[in-house]
Amino acid sequence: MNLCFDIDIAKDYTNKSQISRVLTEYWVKINGYCPNCGELHLKEFENNRPVADFYCKSCSEQYELKSKNGIKLGNKIVDGAYTTMINRITSDENPNFFFLTYDKMKWKVNNFLIVPKYYFTPEIIVKRNPLSKNARRAGWIGCNIDITRIPENGRIFLVKDSKIISKSNVQSKWKRTNFLKTKTGESKGWILDIMNCVDQYLRQNSAISARINHEFH
Ligand SMILES: [Zn+2]
Repeated sequence: MNLCFDIDIAKDYTNKSQISRVLTEYWVKINGYCPNCGELHLKEFENNRPVADFYCKSCSEQYELKSKNGIKLGNKIVDGAYTTMINRITSDENPNFFFLTYDKMKWKVNNFLIVPKYYFTPEIIVKRNPLSKNARRAGWIGCNIDITRIPENGRIFLVKDSKIISKSNVQSKWKRTNFLKTKTGESKGWILDIMNCVDQYLRQNSAISARINHEFH
């Protein structure tokens, strides 16, 4: 896995968001792999297909890519139309999501992670305010993906803070999430809530133990 973008790929583009899209998609095509079965080289869907960006030719899992410029992943990812997103994550063919953050000065990947599709519930999709009356698309409602509502075990890093995580580690983490696949509705919501509570507890406890270590050593 090479963390640098191949900038030659975008030499014919001038629009900044198009350049970012071309570079990030190409990077995933060359460097990504299927965390479900380990297949190298994901296939791209044709442009503007509403469901997903990539698929695996071996196991048919589908992947959508969300990229953002910036070193940190942050708490939210800005996404498109709210209703489209809700329809997508609640459909039978809902995709898994790759999130990619990159450094635009160096054109280099900082974080690349996968969130399995069964972690996506309508609760993590947050409505933005409708565009104002004067806007070109007045009344249009976009959304943000609230990363903080996805439990830690559902955020599987392939690259974290510019460090490449081994494929075997990624695949074993992926496998450990499989039990959620069969859960639906309230019981799934309940399990996700519990996981978030455990994460919060562990975070608080690590802060407390760090403070104790600091004060007593
Ligand atoms: Zn696969």
